Amino acid sequence: MRLLLRSFALGAPGLPRRGMQALPEQLASGLAAPVRLGTPVRTVRDARRGVEVLTDDGPLRARAAIVAVGAQHLADLTDLPVPETHGLTTWWFRAAGRPRTGPFLVLDASRPGGGPAGPVWNTSAISEAAPSYAPAGEVLVHATTLLGEPDGAATEREVLRDLARIYGTRTDRWQLLAHHVVPHALPAQPPGPVDRAPARAGARILVTGDHRTTASIQGALVAGTLAAREARALLG
Ligand SMILES: Cc1cc2nc3c(=O)[nH]c(=O)nc-3n(C[C@H](O)[C@H](O)[C@H](O)COP(=O)(O)OP(=O)(O)OC[C@H]3O[C@@H](n4cnc5c(N)ncnc54)[C@H](O)[C@@H]3O)c2cc1C
Repeated sequence: MRLLLRSFALGAPGLPRRGMQALPEQLASGLAAPVRLGTPVRTVRDARRGVEVLTDDGPLRARAAIVAVGAQHLADLTDLPVPETHGLTTWWFRAAGRPRTGPFLVLDASRPGGGPAGPVWNTSAISEAAPSYAPAGEVLVHATTLLGEPDGAATEREVLRDLARIYGTRTDRWQLLAHHVVPHALPAQPPGPVDRAPARAGARILVTGDHRTTASIQGALVAGTLAAREARALLG
C-alpha cells in the first residue's frame, strides 16, 4: 500500500491515448525474429542442457525459459502453488453533464473505519484525463466495484445511486455502456515482506509476473527485469 501511495505521490498516473493495448504493442514493436508472439504454450519442462517447450506451433528447445503468465494460469504450465487473486468489475457510463471532479481518480473512503460507504471503491470521469476515450463533448465515467459478496452483487441501479452520492449529482440519465467482470484482476498482496526473486519451476525454468512483486504494471516490469537478470546469470 505504501509503495502504491508513494508512486501516486511522486508520479502522474496516465492512460495511453489509444488504450492500454498500446503499452504491450509498444513493448512488442522492438522485437524481431526469432521472437514469436501470439503463440500459446502447452507445456514447458527441463530437458538435457536446457528446456523443452511445446507450443501450438510445435516444439521448441531453449537454454532456459521464463514463464510470465498471470497468476491464474500458473498451474497450466508449472507445479507451483497458485497465488491467490482478487476480482473486480468495471462499469462504464455515458454521463449526462460533467462531474466536477476534473481529471482525478476519486477514492471513496467515507465508511467509518475505512473503505467506501457504498459498492463503488473508485471512480473517475476518465475522459477528463484522456479525452480520446469519448467522442467530443461526451463524458465517460468509470466505476470499480469488487467481485464477491456483497459488492459483486451490486446492481446497475445501486452503482448509479452510489455515484450520485460520490459526485453530488443526479445520475438517473446516465447510460450504462459496458460492464466488465474480471475474476482474476490482481494477485492478492498479503502483508509482510515480499521475495521478489523469480520462482523456479525447474532447473532452468524461471517464473515471474506481478504476482512475484506488486500487483501493478510497474510490479510486472520490475519482476520482468529481475527475471531477465537471473536468466542472464543462469546462462553465464
Ligand atoms: C481491470 C484492470 C485494471 C487495472 N488497472 C491498473 C492500473 O491502473 N495500474 C496498474 O499499474 N495496474 C493495473 N492493473 C494490473 C495490471 O494490469 C497487471 O498487474 C499487469 O498486467 C500484470 O502483468 P503481467 O505481465 O505479470 O501479467 P499479464 O498482464 O496477465 O500477462 C500475462 C500474459 O501471459 C499470457 N499467457 C497466459 N497463458 C499463456 C500460455 N499458456 N501461453 C502463452 N501465453 C500465455 C496471457 O495471454 C498474458 O498476455 C489492472 C488490471 C485489471 C484487470
